[in-house]
Amino acid sequence: MNSQIKVSFIVPAYNEVDNVFPFYEAFSKTFADSNLLWELIFIDDGSSDGTRGKLRELTINKPNVLAISFSRNFGKEAAIWAGLNNATGDIIGIIDADLQQDPQDALNMVNALLDNDDCDMVAAFQAHRHEGRLLSFLKRSFYSLMDSMMETPVLKDASDFRVFRRCVADTILSMPEFHRFSKGIFSWVGFNTMPYAYEPLERQHGVSKWSLFKLLQYAFSGIISFSTKPLRAASWLGISLSILSFIYFLVVMVQKTMFSIPIPGYATLICLILLIGGVQLLFLGIAGEYIGRTYIQVKSRPIYIESKRFQSQNIEHKHYQECE
Ligand code: UDP
Ligand code: MG
Repeated sequence: MNSQIKVSFIVPAYNEVDNVFPFYEAFSKTFADSNLLWELIFIDDGSSDGTRGKLRELTINKPNVLAISFSRNFGKEAAIWAGLNNATGDIIGIIDADLQQDPQDALNMVNALLDNDDCDMVAAFQAHRHEGRLLSFLKRSFYSLMDSMMETPVLKDASDFRVFRRCVADTILSMPEFHRFSKGIFSWVGFNTMPYAYEPLERQHGVSKWSLFKLLQYAFSGIISFSTKPLRAASWLGISLSILSFIYFLVVMVQKTMFSIPIPGYATLICLILLIGGVQLLFLGIAGEYIGRTYIQVKSRPIYIESKRFQSQNIEHKHYQECE
């Protein structure tokens, strides 16, 4: 029944030289018995460790692979976008190259999608987090913050590990924004999403590319990309401070004129000036972030630059252009 259905999996790979072949073997072994047509779209995100050569070797020796190399490191979000631009499947998925996400889970997710006509997307979330307490706490706080900031709810703990129908991919392809934040994009486009609990495995080779600082930057960038509430917060804080200072002004006037109470000056003044100065600078910075993003978006630079592509002999790949 599924014989004609084609699945494209996007595999972002940044310095994953030792994972390329093991990942392919694990994936092809899992999908071999599935009756599905499949292809793997590796995106070499400007690796410097020979991933590109390995991918070339893979396309020469194995079927069903398209490998695209970026001219430099553009980040995982750009890699996902490049994958979407080139995926030809009826169902499209995103999976990491480091084998932390089991291909068997990927197949289960595809089957869940095929078994549920009402469902357009299956998103994997970590049933139990294996990270340290601090990281876990920060990620959970981020999701709560994100949830309160976004107009659409974000699926808690949902990763980029997901599969979805072509209609979802086409919708995302119609959103060529420069600062991409997939978690936000997936939630913003809507569609019926089914959660799928999975246990991440140990990384096979290499190291994680995400430091705590990078994650914080990513979180901040995500909020700015998907919400204008921080700007509104500036207005509300401004209004609140104005009201408070007006009340304080009245109190001081009454103290001075009616009760002749001396007004304690210097320390209060310095504290208030510093506080208000700090708040002003903070919100100037936040407003600057939005202006900066608008500036970059207006330049309309490409989200990624492709430097090379290799493909297995059995796949005929044309550049995927537009949604139909
Ligand atoms: N990745 C990428 N570009 C980057 C950073 C990461 O394509 O700039 C890929 C990486 O090769 C991996 C996936 O994104 O396949 C997830 O990265 P990683 O395993 O480092 O993240 P973690 O699993 O530790 O959150
Ligand atoms: Mg990983």
